[in-house]
Amino acid sequence: MIVEKLLLHVLIVLAPVLSYSFLFEHRKIGRSPYFLGLLYGSAASLCMYFAYYDSSLYWDLRYVPVVLSIFYGGPISGIITIVALMLTRTAMGGETLYLAYIVAVISCAVPFLIYNCFWKSTPKKRVYLSIITGSWPALVQLIILLIYLYFNEDFLGFDQKLVLYIVVFGTIQILAVVFAAVLNESVIERNLMKDEIRRSEKQHTLGELAASIAHEVRNPLTVVKGFLQLMEGEDERHKHYYPLILSELGRAENIISDYLNFAKPEFKKIETFPLPLLVMELSILLNPYALKEGISLTHTIESDAVLTTDRNQLKQALINILKNAVEATPKEGRVSIKLMEEDDSVKIIVRDTGKGMTKEQLARVGSLFFSTKEQGTGLGTMVSTRIIESMGGRVDYTSKLGKGTKVSVTLPLTHLLSRETV
Ligand code: ADP
Ligand code: MG
Repeated sequence: MIVEKLLLHVLIVLAPVLSYSFLFEHRKIGRSPYFLGLLYGSAASLCMYFAYYDSSLYWDLRYVPVVLSIFYGGPISGIITIVALMLTRTAMGGETLYLAYIVAVISCAVPFLIYNCFWKSTPKKRVYLSIITGSWPALVQLIILLIYLYFNEDFLGFDQKLVLYIVVFGTIQILAVVFAAVLNESVIERNLMKDEIRRSEKQHTLGELAASIAHEVRNPLTVVKGFLQLMEGEDERHKHYYPLILSELGRAENIISDYLNFAKPEFKKIETFPLPLLVMELSILLNPYALKEGISLTHTIESDAVLTTDRNQLKQALINILKNAVEATPKEGRVSIKLMEEDDSVKIIVRDTGKGMTKEQLARVGSLFFSTKEQGTGLGTMVSTRIIESMGGRVDYTSKLGKGTKVSVTLPLTHLLSRETV
């Protein structure tokens, strides 16, 4: 009997979260603490109305809505629920009314006390906290009941049934809290996801606007740079400023083209070319830079693959990866490029003996604006990944902190790119 009644209470306890998440999802009222307080308050009152009465005690799940209301609705919602609970209990009267008041005060104090700590926890921890706090009233009830029994043994007539009731009551109470807390967490997650989608839509628009502005800025910059180069030879008085002005302008231009590449990698000129030649070119291009940093740059070629794609874009993607490898490597370190074939794809593997990355850095590499460098833009790896992915390929990073990093660029020999004999 008690089980049926308590299962009905589980339904009552779940009703508020179901109604505010599904029925009032798009309305402001669905998030109002007053409304939530009323919903949970009604649930608590209904639990009491349909309570199972035995051994001079009311067996119900009234404290589950209270705990949920405090945690998920906030203090205002919690107070409204407690007031509703107290009013209903007073109306019901009975001999154990003063006991009910004591249990209510002790039970409600805990969720209020840990409210701040609750919202600083992760979603999983929040569910555990709800379970512990949700079981707390049952424990309080049990302790007070035992104390009561101790002093008024003749009043209740202690029997085994009571122990069974307490076990059933405790179990169902915990189950109800678990269901409700998990449901609440999924509602929170869904709302966060919706916000995230809205935010990324906004970012997308902003990104497109920024790309068009970057494009417009690049043209005047090129003109200014041209004229400054012309003036460099004539203006004797400010001669020593020019190299700095030009190098800073060059940096600005680089940042803009990196950004434009990221925003929209365009394949302008599709050519068919042997990959070994490109790898050799890269090695020659970056060798002086590596030497200046005291790093040896080597290459190994184990494939004669020929690709058809935008050669300059691919070169840019690999330069970004190689530059990062050189920048991460200390003096006397090594950076190597290896070209090899595997099944239907070619692999360009860039290894370095540099500082490597932590797990967190590894997880973020390739995402926009992630940089650990003082002058870094956090665009290079993003641009490279975008270019390679738009060629149907893949970039994989593996890294060990303090040991080095391995970047594998895998390009299919079929999609977009075709294989011919050299
Ligand atoms: P930036 O070079 O401007 O910082 P990138 O997008 O090129 O931007 O790189 C992002 C970050 O990824 C770097 O700041 C660095 O922390 C990390 N990174 C990339 N490649 C390597 C590498 N080979 N070794 C260690 N860290 C790397
Ligand atoms: Mg970089």
